[in-house]
Amino acid sequence: MTDARWQAVARATGLLGADGVPRATVFAEMSALAARTGAVNLGQGFPDVDGPESVARAAADAILGGANQYPPGPGIAELREAIAAHQLEHYALRWDPDTEVLVTAGATEALAAAVLALVRPGDEVLTLEPFYDSYAAVIAMAGATHTTAPLQAGDDGFRLDLDALAAAFTDRTRLLLVNTPHNPTGTVLTRAELEAIARLAQAHDAIVLTDEVYEHLLLRDDAGVRPTHVPIATLPGMAERTLTVSSAGKTFSFTGWKIGWVTGPERLVTAVRTVKQFLTYVSGAPFQPAIAFALRDPEVAAWVDELADSLSRRRDLLCTGLLDAGFTVVRPQGTYFVLADAAPLGYADGTALCRDLPGLAGVVGVPVSAFTHSRSRVDEALRSWVRFTFVKRDDVLEEAVRRLRRLHT
Ligand SMILES: *Cc1c(COP(=O)(O)O)cnc(C)c1O
Repeated sequence: MTDARWQAVARATGLLGADGVPRATVFAEMSALAARTGAVNLGQGFPDVDGPESVARAAADAILGGANQYPPGPGIAELREAIAAHQLEHYALRWDPDTEVLVTAGATEALAAAVLALVRPGDEVLTLEPFYDSYAAVIAMAGATHTTAPLQAGDDGFRLDLDALAAAFTDRTRLLLVNTPHNPTGTVLTRAELEAIARLAQAHDAIVLTDEVYEHLLLRDDAGVRPTHVPIATLPGMAERTLTVSSAGKTFSFTGWKIGWVTGPERLVTAVRTVKQFLTYVSGAPFQPAIAFALRDPEVAAWVDELADSLSRRRDLLCTGLLDAGFTVVRPQGTYFVLADAAPLGYADGTALCRDLPGLAGVVGVPVSAFTHSRSRVDEALRSWVRFTFVKRDDVLEEAVRRLRRLHT
């Protein structure tokens, strides 16, 4: 018997138990463990400080000013214009706010609507591995097959295996779902890696869907230099086959507002809108003008810049603590996550470590196996790895680092 869609989703995300009952996600399990034990929760990646007050006030003013009924289906014009201006200013990408920009319920809905809109049952969707957990779920919802190309840990951080990428493409590869800066590895894909992806996408006539929600969270290296974020849509010949997704949640530290967007050529954006209008129709009426303000205000831009710098410092604080505790660490270039290998601590299995860590050190992380296909090559290679977030207040991170030292005795 074929799976019902919920079973396909539970199976694709590793949550379908042998008894046919879906299990809770490891994120929920670890957050519950943190709450029960009083451990410092570095598992779930959301900021413990809100974004700029001026933006929050803009949303409050919008509610009191009457922005409380359904906004237009594609999003309010003011926000679509601000998104188009942002893409032009930062990346020289020119999109028509009326036909080539669509506001969504977070990046999550943009990604889901795009996959549902563009992929037929039996098609293949190629992602990097490890991958953000919603990708596997929505590919399963579309009845498609999820193929992957590995990121591998090395001296240069996690890098894309270009031979494996080429080998992963087939005639059925319809969509390539890219993510840079990358969750969970913190890698920022290089221009060379993106060019390799672009060449293959063109050769196989595949559409590219790119998740760039961490586009502004770029972390400084030892020389104080931030990596460059290269949207794949800026590469030659790619704008016409690329849908670019981002959202306000990570950039402005308002993850609960769920204002996202997708930009790209009219023919692709129209396809996404056709599906999106029957998922949520619209969302976030008072938050849309507030995010339009945030995207244009220079003081908010300075706030985002300072957020990225403070995240660079917080990354260093947590990485040093993890190294002192005995983990091997790959220093991230972007996002607010770091991957650490527990093998030097005698743990071959990151899930086992995560279950023990509250008792051993009063800290919670999530195993990288939450971001892999079970028993894949990447799953084997990263079996002993754990993801920690550093988007927490300094005092919280300092306490976590103090506690982690208990591991090293
Ligand atoms: C947080 C996150 C999302 C979801 O963004 P929302 O705007 O909250 O829906 C999508 N992709 C990645 C890689 C993320 O980390």
